[in-house]
Amino acid sequence: MRVPLIAGNWKMHKTVKEAVSLVQGLVNEFKGVLDREILVCPPFTSLSEVGKALEGSRIKLGAQDLYWEEKGAFTGAISPLMLKDVGCTYVIIGHSERRQLFGETNRDTNLKIKAAWAYGLNPILCVGETLAEREIGKTKDVVGLQLREGLKDLAVSQGHDLVVAYEPIWAIGTGKTDSPQEANATCGYVRQLLSELFGYAEAQKIRILYGGSVKPENIDGFMQQEEIDGALVGGASLNVESFTRIVKFEEKEKKLSGAN
Ligand code: PEP
Repeated sequence: MRVPLIAGNWKMHKTVKEAVSLVQGLVNEFKGVLDREILVCPPFTSLSEVGKALEGSRIKLGAQDLYWEEKGAFTGAISPLMLKDVGCTYVIIGHSERRQLFGETNRDTNLKIKAAWAYGLNPILCVGETLAEREIGKTKDVVGLQLREGLKDLAVSQGHDLVVAYEPIWAIGTGKTDSPQEANATCGYVRQLLSELFGYAEAQKIRILYGGSVKPENIDGFMQQEEIDGALVGGASLNVESFTRIVKFEEKEKKLSGAN
């Protein structure tokens, strides 16, 4: 069984004080939540203080990006060693905003995943198509290329976890979402590709998240889908109430069995 993962991507939001206040509220809410993994990914400037505020809690700390070198003359960059140093266990890689606004390529994502693994960080590789690509039926081609190139020359094995987030770009921050069924079909395609790359057994262990305007009102529908193992949440992760409801989604088993 794959443990559900709900990850909050705070993007470029929150001062250190605001970030700590948000996370204190979350720690309080999630004390009794044991059957799912919860992750917050604040901006670099808040990682250290948020990490301290999370000590003793089950909420994990992640970064939104990294650079693949350990140290050196790379002005403005943050290394995997630095992320480990402040307590990160996850790192988002290849978010569509990094690809579209900062020119990140599939080769970059590949180097970043290798660097994350070298330092024991779990990468969350983001893939997804634009609206134009969707409309001409290119979703599988785009997602397939991002996966094949992003995961080139890599082998998942013990100690090297991988999470894939399928995020249709037209659904990010727009209030529009993919339908749970279509998102499930694309996530199923992602798993099929992972199976080709790493073998069936390994692919069954990899968690695939849906991302794109996930809200308290729609999370249950996504989490009822067989191929969707969690969510990458942007806007709705910035508030204790909405993120709490998303983390406390209704379990698939309950829905399927019709139990209360
Ligand atoms: C994201 O940041 O990856 C995201 C999906 O954002 P939002 O939930 O705001 O659409």
